[in-house]
Amino acid sequence: MTLLSLSDVTASYGAAQALFGVSLTVDEGDVVALMGRNGMGKTTTIRTICRMMPVKSGEVRFRGRSINRVPSHRVARMGIGLVPEGRRCFANLTVEENLVAAARPGDWNFASVSQLFPRLAERHDQIAASLSGGEQQMLAIGRALMTNPTLLILDEATEGLAPIVRQEIWNAVRTLKATSALAILVVDKSIKELASVADHAVIIERGKDVWTGPISGISKDVTDRFLGV
Ligand code: ATP
Repeated sequence: MTLLSLSDVTASYGAAQALFGVSLTVDEGDVVALMGRNGMGKTTTIRTICRMMPVKSGEVRFRGRSINRVPSHRVARMGIGLVPEGRRCFANLTVEENLVAAARPGDWNFASVSQLFPRLAERHDQIAASLSGGEQQMLAIGRALMTNPTLLILDEATEGLAPIVRQEIWNAVRTLKATSALAILVVDKSIKELASVADHAVIIERGKDVWTGPISGISKDVTDRFLGV
């Protein structure tokens, strides 16, 4: 079943158009990598899905319903959990307070998030500002999970982290994939890690989807054309 679909979505920052017709679908339980070189429109695509940016034309549908005009807080309540670029948490709240503040009824709660990220449990009474970058990222993911989404969106969740911490994040994503029915839309620079976790890929170039298919179908030719530096 299709969970999320974008049909020919365009979007602009003022006079500067950034999306020129993006189409993609994410099925229930599917892990989809949104790929493309820097500045090609990945974050902008995510912003239109989460309604942080208006859809100029085209349509974003979630669970069969157009969300073009649904405000962002309602999209979150409908079941889209966003881990935005730059891992935003409440700096002055503790780890536990950050998590509890995001809670909505469902399987994810403080105990299950602590199981996924034991480090958050260890640091439950520390304020978020005192956490390392990796721990803050875990907290950002934990916060999104606490909303009990059906679609989790990860925008550059491993950016700026040490390799060993990156591995912890990828391990958590793999655990999520293996143990839950969650659909995941993931943006990351590591093609290798994406290939190990995603089912499908959508590549965008200059604000348009240019390649869609199973991630195993990304050939060297596709990499050279659309992903190489
Ligand atoms: P990156 O991997 O560098 O984050 P991206 O694929 O996520 O890249 P976007 O951030 O979506 O790309 O940017 C798409 C286009 O929109 C780029 O040309 C960028 O310069 C422009 N853009 C992004 N954010 C803004 C903004 N706040 N105001 C104006 N233009 C923007």
